[in-house]
Amino acid sequence: MSVSSPVVLITGASRGIGKAIALRLARDGARIGINFRSNASAAEATAEDVSRLGGEPLLLPGDVSVPVSVASTFETLLGHWGRVDVLINNAGIVRDTLVLRMSDDDWDAVIQTNLRSAFLCTRAALRTMLRQRSGRIVNVASISGIRGNAGQSNYAASKAALVGLTKSVAREVASRGITVNAVAPGLIETDITTNMPEKARDALVGQIPLGRMGTTDEVADVVSFLASDQASYITGQVIVVDGGLAM
Ligand code: NAP
Repeated sequence: MSVSSPVVLITGASRGIGKAIALRLARDGARIGINFRSNASAAEATAEDVSRLGGEPLLLPGDVSVPVSVASTFETLLGHWGRVDVLINNAGIVRDTLVLRMSDDDWDAVIQTNLRSAFLCTRAALRTMLRQRSGRIVNVASISGIRGNAGQSNYAASKAALVGLTKSVAREVASRGITVNAVAPGLIETDITTNMPEKARDALVGQIPLGRMGTTDEVADVVSFLASDQASYITGQVIVVDGGLAM
């Protein structure tokens, strides 16, 4: 972005896609708020890597599905750096099972972590971005939210709703120089997919035209583009990063 050393908040940046985004933006000298829920040692490793690559890290532990925790995350971030230029709503979980077997708790946990968190963080970030009259928000959705996926009704619903959130907020804040976009990854190599049953994973890989799973860096590159000045005329879009799986 035109701001030098932009201040970025990435939710769920201790591992996986969130970590890759942190490292990608660190190379551009960004100041990076590394949010995570509980895995402090992984978050500290991310922070060390961010520093090594030329970025400035700030650890921000907290469950972003909980309002009081989001409030304190932003209080710490703004107290430290006084601004927020980029918000990446990345934190997410799965609790996969067929809808008939799904518990209320499985439903609520996924909706709250994947969707409510994005609403809470977006609202908090916009209070500052609107005053700055600039900002970038990137939501990490999923192709499950576009094409549905058996065993993922809670997850797919959360990600489809994230697309609706993306487009609605994009319309609300475009006149203030703020863009809001989403990426929809397919099958990416992270803890989420490592924990999938091997048979289900192999069946999905077999359907990918590019013939392999994606890497976290391949998602991070697209997020980095959407957060950059080069994407200044793109808002309300969902960029699919899935090796052709959902086309
Ligand atoms: P991951 O490796 O399991 O990492 C999840 C991250 O989210 C961790 O940093 C975790 O923190 C954090 N987190 C979870 N719940 C949180 C909460 N309530 N508050 C704050 N942080 C929380 O997952 P991933 O595969 O990188 O997925 C990242 C995003 O990409 C998710 O939104 C996911 O739905 C999406 N996505 C992933 C794939 C894929 O194939 N991997 C495909 C499509 C979309 P701790 O380390 O403290 O637990």
